[in-house]
Amino acid sequence: MTTSTPEPAPTGPEIRGPEVLRRVVPEAAMKDDGRPSSSAFMRSSHDSMMSTFREGVPVEDVAAAWKGKSPLAGVWPVGVIDGSANGAKVYDDGLKPCACGGANDGCEGDYPDGHASVDLREIGRSRRERLAKQFRDAAVQNGALLKAAND
Ligand SMILES: [Zn+2]
Repeated sequence: MTTSTPEPAPTGPEIRGPEVLRRVVPEAAMKDDGRPSSSAFMRSSHDSMMSTFREGVPVEDVAAAWKGKSPLAGVWPVGVIDGSANGAKVYDDGLKPCACGGANDGCEGDYPDGHASVDLREIGRSRRERLAKQFRDAAVQNGALLKAAND
């Protein structure tokens, strides 16, 4: 008997780039040296996706959309999405239903306008950790798009 894992359903049209996605980074995911930790580029426990905004969304709007408990540290680029994000698919899912399908408490239903998800649902832990480091390294190399003034 063969078992095959079905591909997870897309949450919107695939983005094949080139495009530089925007990722919010909370204070809690910053290192002491002022750089984001790779933990800032992991998938969300809510929907197993890495939540980003598309390049066309102004960084001020990305920052304003932050609703986390930890204060916002800033907005960093997720490198250049060209074909895929280091092998992970990216979906344009603005105004599309959340990948959790509303199954999780506190789900707001639809992703916000201009949202894009890096799909990490079917990627194993060690590869996810490698990807997170690659995204973080690209973000640090390119520099913050916006830094919050939290003092
Ligand atoms: Zn959800």
